[in-house]
Amino acid sequence: MAVGTDPHDLFAPAATGSVRRLAPNLQRLVAPNPSPLTGPGTNTYVVGSGPHYLVIDPGPDDTTHVDRILAATHGRISHVLCTHSHPDHSPGAAALKARTQAVVLGQPAPRDEHQDDSYRPDGTLDDDDVIEVSGAGVRALHTPGHASNHVCLLLEPEGWLLTGDHLMGGSTVVILPPDGSMRLYLESLRRLRTLPLTALLPGHGAVMPDPLGEIDRVIAHRLQRESKVVVGLLQLGGAATLGELVPIVYADTPIALHPLARYSLLAHLQKLLEERRVAQDGERWTWLAA
Ligand SMILES: [Zn+2]
Repeated sequence: MAVGTDPHDLFAPAATGSVRRLAPNLQRLVAPNPSPLTGPGTNTYVVGSGPHYLVIDPGPDDTTHVDRILAATHGRISHVLCTHSHPDHSPGAAALKARTQAVVLGQPAPRDEHQDDSYRPDGTLDDDDVIEVSGAGVRALHTPGHASNHVCLLLEPEGWLLTGDHLMGGSTVVILPPDGSMRLYLESLRRLRTLPLTALLPGHGAVMPDPLGEIDRVIAHRLQRESKVVVGLLQLGGAATLGELVPIVYADTPIALHPLARYSLLAHLQKLLEERRVAQDGERWTWLAA
């Protein structure tokens, strides 16, 4: 399916600060936090056709954005659901709860320096939980990988998957170890692959029309990068540090992004370590497999 140019096209770009009705029971509000990591900004989704609504990923605690969410829901929010607790996704939850008495649901935050410290869900969103509101329902799917507490939300019966940061429009998701795990990220993708999905609605960027194609593309991209890690280790005599490997494994990536790529490289090496294909001795990683 081609991306159209009609401004009402479901697959049109997600513009910073925009509000778009994607379906009678679904609106997308793009937060004003654009950056190289967040694309045009965090997508907040409003589910339901009234009188009550679910808000998914309220985004940063930004007054303009919070006011827009309140306007889109007429202030009648039953639940705020967070796909995970990175600071571009969950901080708005506390502001919405304070102004609407909404119940905040998500998985508890892991402890590391990449989390939103204000995040305090009222209840846990467990795998297969269904949260319903007038005109719609979403099913939670625990998808660890990008973050250990990450959930995707499946809008049923449409088959639209709200992917949070598990899949992003137009860029590769950063995996931050030790909370992030490449092995679990790929396992979660393989699980999503088995579902009857008809569209991917990411936490950043436009709606993606070909779920299976996109998931397969991302799996192939990650495995291709993993083989570059192996080739890089072999080129360096079978043992190397992260600093030695980054310029080889990410030769195709702008140098400005190498500090971030270092995290993903570490995630690849940890997957290989878990598979006993490499060994780690301090800062040095050694290739083991024949
Ligand atoms: Zn994230």
